[in-house]
Amino acid sequence: MSQLQLKDLYDGFRNPEVIEGFAKLINEEAKKLPKPVNIMEVCGGHTHSIMKFGLPQLLPKNINFIHGPGCPVCIMPKERIDHAYILAELDDTILVTLGDMIKVPGSHGSLQDARAKGADVRFVYSPLDTLKIAQENPDKKIIFFAIGFETTTPMTTSLIDIVIKKEIKNIFFHINHVTVPEVMVELIDSRDEHVDSYNNRIDAFLGPSHVSVITGSKIYEKFPKKYNRPVVVAGFEPVDVMEAILMIVRQFNEGRCELEVEYKRLVSYDGNKKAQALIEKYFEKASLFKWRGLGNIPDSGYRLKDEYAYLDAEHIYADILPKEEIEDHKLCICGDILRGMAKPNECTIFGTACKPQTPLGSCMVSSEGACAAYYKYGNLL
Ligand code: SF4
Ligand code: SF4
Repeated sequence: MSQLQLKDLYDGFRNPEVIEGFAKLINEEAKKLPKPVNIMEVCGGHTHSIMKFGLPQLLPKNINFIHGPGCPVCIMPKERIDHAYILAELDDTILVTLGDMIKVPGSHGSLQDARAKGADVRFVYSPLDTLKIAQENPDKKIIFFAIGFETTTPMTTSLIDIVIKKEIKNIFFHINHVTVPEVMVELIDSRDEHVDSYNNRIDAFLGPSHVSVITGSKIYEKFPKKYNRPVVVAGFEPVDVMEAILMIVRQFNEGRCELEVEYKRLVSYDGNKKAQALIEKYFEKASLFKWRGLGNIPDSGYRLKDEYAYLDAEHIYADILPKEEIEDHKLCICGDILRGMAKPNECTIFGTACKPQTPLGSCMVSSEGACAAYYKYGNLL
């Protein structure tokens, strides 16, 4: 018997005939829509799937995608990247982080630049890989610069759990974990008056499935109930996205406004309770977290509880980490893109001064960023 390949698992969800079948159904349903529907995909993973498989071309003109703020690298403000840079430059530290974070420019440069100047910066695929680095470098302080949405937060808390239980003395944490529902609220019910002008552009949300694997779909309940926006939690494959679009369009046509789950193969209402318990054990909500382009959003980020302050690099190095907020490059419109107000190709330096090789803003750096997706797959538009 031949061995199961990864592609055997996703092939069916990329089947062109199934995608076309959904496109037909959506086009039929969309004829009955009383007005155009703008659907925000909150997550950069969805943006990439939508662009990579050319889904906008398959949809009727009265269904539009709005690309949302869902990439933890894209929303990281420069001042926090500067924190990482400063910590990496210390003689006795090794700064460890995940993937694309290493390329995002802060005001001193990126972590990649810091590395070129001699700082010890490493990237890992899993936070748990930090344990090996700590073991091999007992004389160094290993600072894990933790990023990500609800999906990766439990992996950081697992690392914290091991560090505490095994009494590992040389691993510390700079916490930058953020949460999805609070930013969705910000986009439709912002405290800033200037945001009102585009508030009503978002008619419905595609919820990121892997976030809900951890949190459960329950985190989106308030959007249909309180904010009158349907949410469909969708997987990342093109068949998932097309099915979710059909579910949203049917809700509008049938006069329903509900939370539905397309990605039933892994998402439950309650989510992963063990992972949630671990998060609650070590973290509490920070009263404010600054999102790049969106400003300070209440309750949208985590911090280590005070009793674990001895592990918290932000606390330990408070004297050398700047607190001032830093503006982005003046031509970069990442802020508008992350708010769903503009598309990447509306940026005047998109694809010229700003490219993946020379990114001027974070949306071009992250492989999940909207500008990177447009640059890579824009010819499919
Ligand atoms: S971290 Fe998850 S939710 Fe965020 S952009 Fe990536 S895939 Fe989407
Ligand atoms: S193309 Fe570059 S400069 Fe323009 S918005 Fe995107 S990341 Fe910012």
